[in-house]
Amino acid sequence: MSSPIKETLWDPIAGFGVTFRTMFKKTVTEQYPFEKVPTAPRFHGRHQLNRWPDGLEKCIGCELCAWACPADAIYVEGASNTEGDRHSPGERYGRVYQINYLRCILCGLCIEACPTRALTMTNEYELADNNREALIYEKNDLLAPLLPGMVEPPHEMMISDDQHDYYRGKTLPIVEVSTGSAGENGEATA
Ligand code: SF4
Ligand code: SF4
Repeated sequence: MSSPIKETLWDPIAGFGVTFRTMFKKTVTEQYPFEKVPTAPRFHGRHQLNRWPDGLEKCIGCELCAWACPADAIYVEGASNTEGDRHSPGERYGRVYQINYLRCILCGLCIEACPTRALTMTNEYELADNNREALIYEKNDLLAPLLPGMVEPPHEMMISDDQHDYYRGKTLPIVEVSTGSAGENGEATA
């Protein structure tokens, strides 16, 4: 049990001592949202659905990401590519793709499950909104932007006639990317 003298005399001195010492330390407070500090390069933020260098989508609608998700945040409906309506190399593509950011915990298990590296995560973290509907991202919200040389699907395979060449990365030209969080072919790095 502390004495009344210690409480009245020493404790305030010790308390102000902490304040005094802290005054000379470097400020670590970030002035968000006025100043935005870059995240760590592999920070897990908003997802991105990537494209091949000709603009075709990498997603094949397999639903593995949805099955891997512990929060049941992903909804996928696959469909078949047909002559004149091709969205990805191979047989199937993701016709409907949704991520519910009210549920997503940004754990990254979905991107580990994806067999074509169609799904990666960007560094974007500003995912708040004032209504629930806006936080269910549709395929159009998640698709990577078209880079130079890419054409918006549907269209035929432009860099090879063989779907396996796409998957193995053969014959793919290197596409220069200017954004910081993206890698080859516009893929986010996480
Ligand atoms: S990051 Fe995790 S919680 Fe979010 S969609 Fe992917 S698997 Fe689900
Ligand atoms: S994002 Fe990947 S795992 Fe998910 S449906 Fe598309 S190809 Fe399959």
